[in-house]
Parts: sequence; structure tokens; C-alpha cells
Amino acid sequence: MTLTEKILARAAGKPRVEAGDNVWVKADVLMTHDVCGPGTIGVFKREFGQDAKVWDRNKVVIIPDHYIFTADSKSNRNVDILRDFVQEQEIPYFYDVIDDPKGHWVFDPAKGKLNRQYGSRYAGVCHTALPQKGHTRPGEILFGTDSHTCMAGAFNEFATGIGNTDAGFVMGTGKLLLKVPETMHFRLEGALQPGVMAKDIILHCIGEIGFDGATYRAMQFDGPGVPSLSMDDRMTIANMAIEAGGKNGIFEFDAQTQAFVDYRCKLNGTKPNYEPVTRDQNEKFVYDKTVDLSKLEPTVACHPDPGQRKLARELESVKLDRAYIGSCTGGKTSDFLEIARMLRGKRVVIDTFGVPATPEIVHDLQSARWGDQTVWEILVAAGVQMTENAGCAACLGGPVDTFGRMNSPMKCISATNRNFPGRMGHKESQVFLASPATVAASALTGKITDPRAYLPN
Ligand code: SF4
Repeated sequence: MTLTEKILARAAGKPRVEAGDNVWVKADVLMTHDVCGPGTIGVFKREFGQDAKVWDRNKVVIIPDHYIFTADSKSNRNVDILRDFVQEQEIPYFYDVIDDPKGHWVFDPAKGKLNRQYGSRYAGVCHTALPQKGHTRPGEILFGTDSHTCMAGAFNEFATGIGNTDAGFVMGTGKLLLKVPETMHFRLEGALQPGVMAKDIILHCIGEIGFDGATYRAMQFDGPGVPSLSMDDRMTIANMAIEAGGKNGIFEFDAQTQAFVDYRCKLNGTKPNYEPVTRDQNEKFVYDKTVDLSKLEPTVACHPDPGQRKLARELESVKLDRAYIGSCTGGKTSDFLEIARMLRGKRVVIDTFGVPATPEIVHDLQSARWGDQTVWEILVAAGVQMTENAGCAACLGGPVDTFGRMNSPMKCISATNRNFPGRMGHKESQVFLASPATVAASALTGKITDPRAYLPN
């Protein structure tokens, strides 16, 4: 069996499963957020009753993160709906925007968009917050009401996005009927060259198969190239499995996975035990591809979908209006460190927005010092508009007052993960997906730029 099949077999209580089998699996964690949480709660109450209790209050994780820093009152109200439900159900893992359990969330535009407006428990973008808060464990099943839930496949678990109806059902029963996906195999060999990042690996793979090339399939990443990839790198790759239509993305378990998960579970007091899955001799793949990481170059997915692959050096005539650094995919500490390395002592020439994925990342950047400046100060000095209000922000457009949203037709190079028309705001805008290094180099020149000419010594 493949890694995905092994996890699904175990969760179904069967000795083995095959692609195409329909099986009932037990959920280990159900995550929802402010956009889909209220709808999921509505389905749960409609189907199980107004007084029903969730199947296991310790396995439901609720993370407001999407439409948070906006004056849109309906969006603010969604956070209050989550808070009311959490209190009614006594759910311990709720990462509220505010500290007062009886309060109401209201964003105050008068305080500006750059300065922190959240309380001490707020956790930021759900997919980045889940591992940071100790909710991702090898061998487990994670369902989330968000398509990029597949990011947790970096931790050797089966993680996939589901709709509100399915999530309402999981909330009530802890189970879901799933068809076992076929598995596509991506064997990674070699090591990345300077200026080439994990984002280039996944943009390359999606370019090979197209934005629907993995529809309802598992994308398994393994091979001798994996140990050189950090957990942040693996998260970037697993996150974008859905951009090829994948049901999930999954990595092998290794010492790095173990160190990360053990540390985070201990730090947060979450469940510490888990059982990873390892590879079999007799895996059946529907597709098999070897990717030599040393041959990859800085890669861009052009408008209008993540499969429109080109090399950055082929696009140097494309003029840009904006650069954006952020999201679960491209707003991690390591992403910002790479950008700071490239921008240090220089100045961007186009509007450049920086949105860390989580408050922990804000803290990292504001406390890490390079010489007499923090990394945050280096980015600000280079002209990046950095906000402390960690969250999804303009990655998915959002209400019109969202930080970094494209409210007119423009061209943007972005470290995010999705570029279908209208994704980041105006429907006539164009989004070019790239690595943090390519975004940084492009922000310095105002056109799409191969970062290798701009690497510091
Ligand atoms: S940052 Fe973007 S991709 Fe990630 S969860 Fe938020 S909206 Fe989705």
C-alpha cells in the first residue's frame, strides 16, 4: 500500500485498502475557521439537533483567520458565532481573535492596518497554526473546511479539505465516507541550487501535470532529496497539492518530522503519541516521476491558473505593479528570512506587502537580529509594508478594505498559492505565483526577475 492507503486502512479498521474502495474512516482532528465554521455549525445543528454535542470536543480545532482585519460587520460577526459555539460545546482548542470570552470582535480601522489588533490566543492562518499549536501528527486523519488543509501532509498524515456538509457530519459522528484515492509518485532526488526554493519544486510538478492533473489523487513525495527539505519546505509543497486538484499531498516520516511534532505537542500540551506510516515494497502508483532538484530553476505560475508554468528568466519582460509576500504557503518565518536576505540594504520599486501567516512568525521576525537591525526592521527599511495583523489577508481577496487586496486591474507577483481570476481581488487583475526569492528579486526591479542574479554573497 502507499502511505495514503496505509493511513486510510488503519482509520477504517481494515488490514488493507485499494484505490477506488469506499471506506468509513475515523477523524483524528476536525478543523474549521471563520468563513466555513458558521455554515458547518449550522449543518451540525440542523442534522443533529440544537442541543447536540460534538463527537469529541478535544478533536475539534477552531481557528479564525480569513476575514479578520476588516471593518465588514458580517465578517466580524462570524468570529462571534464561533466563540458562542465554543462556549456552548466547551471546546478547548479555539484560537480567538480577542481575549474576552464574553466580548465581541470589532476591527478598528482608525488604529491602522499595520499595528497588532489581536489578543494573546489568536493563532493566525489555520494551516500554519495547526502544526505550530501541536495539532498535526504522523499517521493521523485531519479534515478541515479549507482546501489547503492538505498542507499537513508534510507531517506524514492524511489531511484533506472537506465542505461544510461533510464537516457538519464529522462534527456529529467523528467519521466520514471516503473513496481511497489513487497515488501519484514524485521521487525527489538531488538538492536545490541557491536561489531555488521549495515553491519552485511544487510549481514545477504542477506544471508537469496541469492544474487538474492530480484530481482526486494523492501526491506522494519521497526519495533521497527529501531530507534536505525543511519542514517549512515540505509544508509549501504539500499545501499546493490541491492546486493540481490533489485529494492530499503526503511526505515520508523522518527524524525532522519527529523532532518538529514532538516539540510542538510538548510545547502546547497536545496529544503526544502517534504512529507514523512507512513505505512498502509493493506500492501501486498511477503515475511515477523523478524530479532532480539540482536541475530546477526559479519557476513561475502565470495567470490564470497554477499550472501555467514558465521559468522566471523567460518572463523578464513582464512589468509588475505589486508584490505580495504572505499566506500559509509563503508567509512562514523561513520565507521572510529569504526575502530579508535578498532585500537587505536595498529598496523595492513597486508596492510590496508583507503579511506573516501567524503571530508567532511576527514575533520571530521582530526578535531575530541581523547586526543592529531586526529582520522586521530590514524588511521595513527596504520598503515592504509589513503588517503585524497575521492572517489570510489578500491571499483570497476578502472584503474591499483587506490589507494588500487588489482593488483595480493590476499585475502582482505573489508568494501565495492560487491565481485563478479574481483570487486576490479585482477580477481583471493578474497574479503570478513564485517563490519568496523570486518575489523579492521582482520587487527590486519591478518586473518578473530570476533571483539568482540578486543573491547576496
Ligand atoms: S492564506 Fe490563503 S490559501 Fe492559506 S488558508 Fe488563508 S486564504 Fe487559504
